Amino acid sequence: MGGREVGREAMAIPGHGAEDLFVPANSVAPDFPPWEYHLHSTWSDGSAPPESLVRHALGLGITRLIFTEHTEPGLVAGPGWFDRYRAELLDLRERFAGRIDLGIGLEAPAVDFEGGLLLDEREIAGVEFVLGAVHALPGHGWSFASLEPERAIDLEFKALLGLAGNPMVDAIAHPGGVCQQYVAPFPMELFAEVVRKATANGIAIELNPAYQSPLGPYLEVCRRYDARVSPGSNAHHPGEIGRAWRLLREL
Ligand SMILES: [Zn+2]
Ligand SMILES: [Zn+2]
Repeated sequence: MGGREVGREAMAIPGHGAEDLFVPANSVAPDFPPWEYHLHSTWSDGSAPPESLVRHALGLGITRLIFTEHTEPGLVAGPGWFDRYRAELLDLRERFAGRIDLGIGLEAPAVDFEGGLLLDEREIAGVEFVLGAVHALPGHGWSFASLEPERAIDLEFKALLGLAGNPMVDAIAHPGGVCQQYVAPFPMELFAEVVRKATANGIAIELNPAYQSPLGPYLEVCRRYDARVSPGSNAHHPGEIGRAWRLLREL
């Protein structure tokens, strides 16, 4: 893991010790490990409960599955949800021990341009893996339509640079993906700037085929900066699990 804040619980994913959670971009090869690091269950806006996702992943040959539920209040299963989510995953971890490594993660959106994340104290204390994401643009919410594309791109870029400086972030989810999906193509040179800063700070870069297609050019930039890659499919349904892994094996 990157530099953790003192006092935060250490990564507890079984099987993860000295081994890095992430794959160096320059080592991405056809034997890319069967890992999925971006998954939503019914604890946020996914369609299936955790156990059925775990069973589906096992059937695909996935060996490490990190759940990354949203933290936006409108997307989670009510007050106190995090403790119940964590308890369920700890139970599943025990029951599926030796078959699949399960990680308790969160996908936390940026709330400003300084790396601030939407995480409460219990989440900070109990989470094992943090995907930092730009979703709503800080200060502008989801009203992309009212912004000039250049302005939206600049806001996403600045929020991403903030995430790339926060040691609590393990990996940056879909860098540039919000503009890419909803506004206009996110310039590759800005993606490269985010990769450069994140890598300098020990933060991995998610390669996510739901937002970045094809993945090849993004991997090339990650190679240039010797970044570490986090395989994330942004899976909201069982059938979407492992998509990033399968595409990374083909690069
Ligand atoms: Zn996201
Ligand atoms: Zn997501």
